[in-house]
Amino acid sequence: MLLYNSMTHKKAPLTTHTPGHVEMYTCGPTVYHFAHIGNLRSYIMEDVLEKFLRYEGLSVNRVMNITDVGHLASDADTGEDKMLKGAKREHKSVMEIAQFYTDAFFDDCRKLNIKTPDVVQPATGLIAEFIEMVSGLLDKGYAYCAGGNVYFDSSKLKRYYVFNDHNEDDLAVGVREGVEEDTNKRNKNDFVLWFTKSKFEDQALKWDSPWGVGYPGWHIECSAISLKYNGEYLDLHCGGVDNAFPHHTNEIAQSESYLGHPWCPQWFHVHHLNTNDGKMSKSKGEFLTVSLLEEKGYDPLSYRFFCLQSHYRKALVFTWENLDNAQGAYQKLLKKIAALDEADTAVDDAAAAEFKEEFLRQVGNDLNTSMGITALYNVLKAPVGDGTKRAVLAEFDSVLGLSLLERAAALREKEAAQVSTAAADGCTVTGEGDPEIDALVLRRYEAKKAKDYAEADRIRAALKEMGVEVVDTKDGAVWKRV
Ligand code: AMP
Ligand code: ZN
Repeated sequence: MLLYNSMTHKKAPLTTHTPGHVEMYTCGPTVYHFAHIGNLRSYIMEDVLEKFLRYEGLSVNRVMNITDVGHLASDADTGEDKMLKGAKREHKSVMEIAQFYTDAFFDDCRKLNIKTPDVVQPATGLIAEFIEMVSGLLDKGYAYCAGGNVYFDSSKLKRYYVFNDHNEDDLAVGVREGVEEDTNKRNKNDFVLWFTKSKFEDQALKWDSPWGVGYPGWHIECSAISLKYNGEYLDLHCGGVDNAFPHHTNEIAQSESYLGHPWCPQWFHVHHLNTNDGKMSKSKGEFLTVSLLEEKGYDPLSYRFFCLQSHYRKALVFTWENLDNAQGAYQKLLKKIAALDEADTAVDDAAAAEFKEEFLRQVGNDLNTSMGITALYNVLKAPVGDGTKRAVLAEFDSVLGLSLLERAAALREKEAAQVSTAAADGCTVTGEGDPEIDALVLRRYEAKKAKDYAEADRIRAALKEMGVEVVDTKDGAVWKRV
């Protein structure tokens, strides 16, 4: 496939160290709170990428960390440990918080049809490997001890800013955020590999190390976890665009210095989901989670559909209206699929192969998921039998992950469960078999007939409150729960 590489700033065919096999790494969540739907946009797009690679016939080994220690509030080396912040907020232990939010993250993933990576590794489970890597960096002269901490020495690198030729002043993260600068650092871009002197005396998780009791920096976990499970040559590294600096920049610095050779040539960065007033955050305004979407009556897969409609390299603005539109389009699509003849099981292999080729070409052009959605409509419109349509849709859905056939079958069942009540004056009420609602719908019909439109509107509003939608037909009304 052709993929934009944020390291070279070019679109190019994906290459792999071992032909036919992709070693893939994803930066996982920091489990101090629920993931917001912005975080989940990144995981949805990475999930489609993995599934697309498999659909192309490649084998994939996908590894993800769970950050349960070391991620400080600023992404650099300042501010409070996010885990500790979460534990204090909820009066629980750090490990309780980690377990709770790790489970919550995978619950959200399940609802969004995001596959669990082949390897999921919490950072706290691999401390010995982190210590080994930090020792190696010290031995090779890429690190130094100062003030009790171990730092990576960025001045030892020929090129530190691998993603961009940044303006140094822009990148003085700590300074910009008005946080105290760490005077132990020899160079502004140096970063902590191992903390022993933390200004947070109540740091909950600490381990013994050659440099004293302490805990790892955030960046070292991804380098060491990838090395253990992906090996020395990583093909594809993913994350949200905010991870490029400093996190991914520092991962590259550590890994290449430790290994002594280039590490990962391809970088996939998903751009942010924003709200109308800016970047989505866990502390600002309404905290948008999958559970909140569900509470408001949305199917989480409508959110996945919404994400797939736009390109991962463009910022995406979330509004409830946009989500309504996506939900409407997704439901309509499901209805069309539900109308296909299930009894037709004949598959035209030649036609199916043509559809597949086109899908691979379109979506394979830098993960163009909106063309993947268009492909679904094209299949539905095509002059081929329903059996072929269903088979091709199922294949495409193995990449897009919209549960198309399952949701369409559920819709069919719901419609089949509808029952009609013949009413006295010739009006037929068709619904889901609830006499109370049937009676209300009938009263509305009678009010309309008597030209009492105010009463008819009042009943419609009352039904809406109950989550019931009514559609008038020529000889009565059909209602359904929405
Ligand atoms: P965190 O749990 O903060 O470590 O973030 C998990 C993932 O979500 C990382 O890959 C981030 O780059 C990504 N991310 C953070 N904010 C957003 C956002 N608003 N839109 C998309 N991805 C995001
Ligand atoms: Zn990472």
